[in-house]
Amino acid sequence: MIKVWYNKYKLTPVTAFGSVAENTDRIGALVRVQWNDRLVGYADLHPWPELGDADIDTQLEAWRLGKISPLAEQAMWLAKRDAKLRELKLNAFSGKPKIKNHFFIGDFTKSSDALMEEVRRAGFSTVKFKMGRDLSEEAKFLYKFIKQNPFTVRLDFNAKTDVNEYVRFMASLLPAERERIEFVEDPVPFDADVWTELSKFAPLAIDNEIDKVYKANLKTLPFRHFILKPARQDVDKALDFIDRHDLKVVVTSSLDHPVGVCHAMLLASELKMSMPSRLADCGCLSFGSYRTNSFSSKITVMGPYMTETEGTGIGFDDLFQQIAWINLR
Ligand code: MG
Repeated sequence: MIKVWYNKYKLTPVTAFGSVAENTDRIGALVRVQWNDRLVGYADLHPWPELGDADIDTQLEAWRLGKISPLAEQAMWLAKRDAKLRELKLNAFSGKPKIKNHFFIGDFTKSSDALMEEVRRAGFSTVKFKMGRDLSEEAKFLYKFIKQNPFTVRLDFNAKTDVNEYVRFMASLLPAERERIEFVEDPVPFDADVWTELSKFAPLAIDNEIDKVYKANLKTLPFRHFILKPARQDVDKALDFIDRHDLKVVVTSSLDHPVGVCHAMLLASELKMSMPSRLADCGCLSFGSYRTNSFSSKITVMGPYMTETEGTGIGFDDLFQQIAWINLR
């Protein structure tokens, strides 16, 4: 018998997120799942209506009626992992390798030379930008950024740009500048032929467009990096695909609650042990994109590395105790 409780939260962004979302509060829910009156685990349910998800109330209502969405399915899967550790009174992160992350910039107009100096001193070697708000301005910014900073660059278009715009953008960068781009996530909506053409400008990575790739059943792929978000994807299916196609993996949060962030970090540290050569710098340090809350203030960060949280499972024991959980029934 599975019982579920939830508690809605809001996260206040400190900047906008590229083309997908303005800086209005983001709503999700923490969930508490109990199996057989014994195992209890926690996870985050954080929909992105901008990317086609049903909003949080619709998700919860469907779950109440037994129609579990893919996001709720992942939340349950993650909560079960947390529950197993809690039962054994183990901390998820102790004894596991630390994960190096990229520095995330949701709005490039908010980055400054002083900030980049700080980011470099902190030990980051990779910076990821959300793109697509104003491509010609972004091209100018990127040109300057690459010239002035030693970072490896990741760009994310969320498949919101059209092919011509993308080609124009890439053509406006010099080959030496394009070489500093490690990969471009979801440049345009997935189409194997189009992506193969676009991969000539800079290597590509698959993220939100993955379901189209699964359906296409291709022998050779126009990308080498797989963005793995445990909050949004069937992890076993993804790992099987990654292995079969010999891809690199970037584990990232889904710009969600710190609880989701810690689940992503746990998966990343497991993969660091089981497939170290596949794991590239990850994208779990996203809670800085939001105003600090009681959860994020419990996570200690050292430069690009997140250190363990205190408590059992993914941590936050005392905070989970204090929450006024609502029974989903
Ligand atoms: Mg992405």
